[in-house]
Amino acid sequence: LLYLDNSATTPIHPEVKDAMLPFLLEEFGNPSSKYYDLAAYAKDAVKIARQNVAKLIDCRPDEIIFTSGSTESNNFIIKGITDQRKNKGKHIITTNIEHPSVLEVCKYLESIGFNLTVLEANQNGVITIEQFSNAVTPETIFASIQWGNNEIGSLNPIIEISKICIEHDIFLHSDATQVIGKRLISLDNLPGLSAISISAHKFFGPKGVGATFLRKDQYNLFPPITPLLHGGGQEEGLRSGTLAVHNIVGLGKASEIASQRQNKNIKKLNELEQHLIEILNSKFGTNIKYNHSSENKIPGIINVQFIGINNEILVKKLAPVIAVSTGSACSSSKPSHVLAAIGLSLNEIRQTIRISLSPYIEKEDLNIFNNL
Ligand code: PLP
Repeated sequence: LLYLDNSATTPIHPEVKDAMLPFLLEEFGNPSSKYYDLAAYAKDAVKIARQNVAKLIDCRPDEIIFTSGSTESNNFIIKGITDQRKNKGKHIITTNIEHPSVLEVCKYLESIGFNLTVLEANQNGVITIEQFSNAVTPETIFASIQWGNNEIGSLNPIIEISKICIEHDIFLHSDATQVIGKRLISLDNLPGLSAISISAHKFFGPKGVGATFLRKDQYNLFPPITPLLHGGGQEEGLRSGTLAVHNIVGLGKASEIASQRQNKNIKKLNELEQHLIEILNSKFGTNIKYNHSSENKIPGIINVQFIGINNEILVKKLAPVIAVSTGSACSSSKPSHVLAAIGLSLNEIRQTIRISLSPYIEKEDLNIFNNL
């Protein structure tokens, strides 16, 4: 099987598995316990993992809070920061191409009294700086703007938006789930971006673990940030619960590998993407139409409409040899809100598949598309 649904999830890298195994077996200590070696070893492992995640996105290790993944990180930041800042204003901004773990949380906040602006992405799947600027009011306290899109690979102008947020004292969060390891990120150089969300399983780590980057200058403000999980006070009191050491070690190792291979992976994904597009173009010509961004995109995400062919039938037909998807995994039973947002009709959406590549396959593997 040629697995080409890497935006849904990726397989665990063999080195990640090897790093995790001891913590599923003999190294079972609780990193919050004291005085004996088993606990100290777990604590050290968590510390190294934290350093590796921080290195990948160029921030301080004490700005990393381990979570169960991006859904939790998105919920934590959106609910926690809006609760903290609610006395300053009630207006929040997001976009119509966010993952449901952002969009649904924002809609929930609207239902309890916040004013929500949902910016509409243009045909390229991005919101513009002007759109963002125009949406800002003196009441705006928070914005959550996706960095890169999971279905069409579009990239929002986060750097420019972060500058506007500094000017207006807006807390900016970005869902970075799909760009980690596929785009060089330096949070140290982006002071206006206060939080991002990360999921390990999107870049060859395990499922059920991720991180929130939360800028250190946000920690000791008053009132304090409201945690999603109250309890024993782990993760600086912002995310209680015994740390999932094996998973955190896996996230750390995946981050270390991503740091080392990032440039190579980006180059490879671009080459693979170009190769696949050449094959598809020569085989299907005008019977296909691409929906992914044409420039400035996440490498390796191809979104393509097969004109006149039902996508579910196509994906099922391919399934024994090639794994692709009709859209994002979490909402594959509903027509894509992202494709609708960039102007596709329901009919066009139902003819569209997403192919998401891995840097660990070879060009020759893609020749299988020639034999369809
Ligand atoms: N945000 C984006 C852009 C995603 O693609 C995903 C995963 O599908 C998530 C958030 C949620 O990640 P997780 O399911 O690991 O919590």
